Amino acid sequence: ELRKIRDFFKRNGLLTLSVIAVITGCTLGFVLRGTQLSTQAKIYFSFPGELLMRMLKMLILPLITSSLMSGLSSMESKACCRMGVLTVTYYLWTTFIAVVVGIALVLIVKPGVGTEMESNRLGGGPVMTSADALLDLIRNMVPSNLVEATFQQYKTDLLPILKVPTRTVQPSFVYVIPGEGAPSGRTVYLELTPPPEVHYKTSPGTSQQMNVLGIVIFSATMGLLLGRMGERGAPLVNVCQCINECVMKIINAAVWYFPFGIIFLVAGKILDMADPSTLGKKLGWYGITVLAGLFVHGLILLPLFYFILTHKNPFKYIRGLLQAMVIALATSSSSATLPITMKCLLENCHVDRQIARFVLPVGATINMDGTALYEAVAAIFIAQVNDYELDFGQLVTISITATAASIGAAGIPQAGLVTMVIVLTSVGLPPDDITLIVAIDWILDRFRTMINVLGDALAAGIIAHLCKKDFPREENGKGVPSYGS
Ligand code: ASP
Repeated sequence: ELRKIRDFFKRNGLLTLSVIAVITGCTLGFVLRGTQLSTQAKIYFSFPGELLMRMLKMLILPLITSSLMSGLSSMESKACCRMGVLTVTYYLWTTFIAVVVGIALVLIVKPGVGTEMESNRLGGGPVMTSADALLDLIRNMVPSNLVEATFQQYKTDLLPILKVPTRTVQPSFVYVIPGEGAPSGRTVYLELTPPPEVHYKTSPGTSQQMNVLGIVIFSATMGLLLGRMGERGAPLVNVCQCINECVMKIINAAVWYFPFGIIFLVAGKILDMADPSTLGKKLGWYGITVLAGLFVHGLILLPLFYFILTHKNPFKYIRGLLQAMVIALATSSSSATLPITMKCLLENCHVDRQIARFVLPVGATINMDGTALYEAVAAIFIAQVNDYELDFGQLVTISITATAASIGAAGIPQAGLVTMVIVLTSVGLPPDDITLIVAIDWILDRFRTMINVLGDALAAGIIAHLCKKDFPREENGKGVPSYGS
């Protein structure tokens, strides 16, 4: 018995620690909510979690560039083309199915029907139109400056608007710490008494986020060309392979810090969240509808596709991905989770390296089933709150724009909330009404990110199976027996 337990921990130690960390983080967060921590104390408290996010983000750029450049350079054009077409077709198809599931559920549950909730428009100022947002997406595909693309590009932004009752408010503290967010590279924390009301408004602006889509497109093109250059391209391919190996080694070492970081990441978020009792029944039902949709899509439909296309047990495969899903839950970013997804796929699911190096980075950027499903549910929910009847044509528009909006969303926390402007404006709903769902979005974001990550990883298993003949398994070289089963 003791040996069995020891064996279990040997194989699943990290996963067990991560799950314990999520639970500990939640408990700690709720316990500390009772004690009025100051803003400064919260910053110190969240620091280990902030370090975890920074570590993951640090790995994204070298991982994506080296994976795509070394992965694609070693493929034959025909095999490459087939894999590319299969991947993009599969991604679009599953995203569209996710949207249909979302629409069906929200039309059945009708969470927004009734009068309990008022839409809360702010008005004024420039607002993104869907054309603006689509142009932004295309703009990001072609970064004008590659170096800039590594730290800043996404123009769409959610601008927080503080409604401050001017005479009664006294800033008691002002903290300025180096960090992301403000254009000067500093984040400013104001502690106000009484606390101001915060609303969000979508508006063209700039935020400091990596333009992953632009980097993916550039690296994939470079990889394809390096492969065609033969001997002359070999030195650069070798460099990329070395970087890739190093990054994987860093990931293997860094994962042991993750459980510790997760505790503070989760607890810090719970300390900051709004009081759940103020959310109201409609928002509750809306949340339940999104979660039910994610459950149906992620744990029933996607595994079913995997089974139909590969004839293998999907749940055995998913078991190998649990570590990545816990990290997705803790970070709400599929880009930040990418290093761990890659590790799980190679080490636990034994997916072919060449396939994983292409399918995963592309998926983390354009394939977001969870986000697409949520965008469709949220748009129809907002229509229901506004008493706005949607006809069949408008539902079709929502399904297409929700798919496009999920492709445009970056793999970062709450990116889906921003690109939802495309969906809302396409059917004439007021974009500012996303303020209705902001309060609950951070928690839904965590679950939809899990499904986004799961979708990418299952796709890699499926594409590996379908392209088996194109990729004899010499590159793995370690005698790994089969694709994911
Ligand atoms: N947070 C999600 C992700 O990183 C994107 C979103 O839906 O907001 O996959």
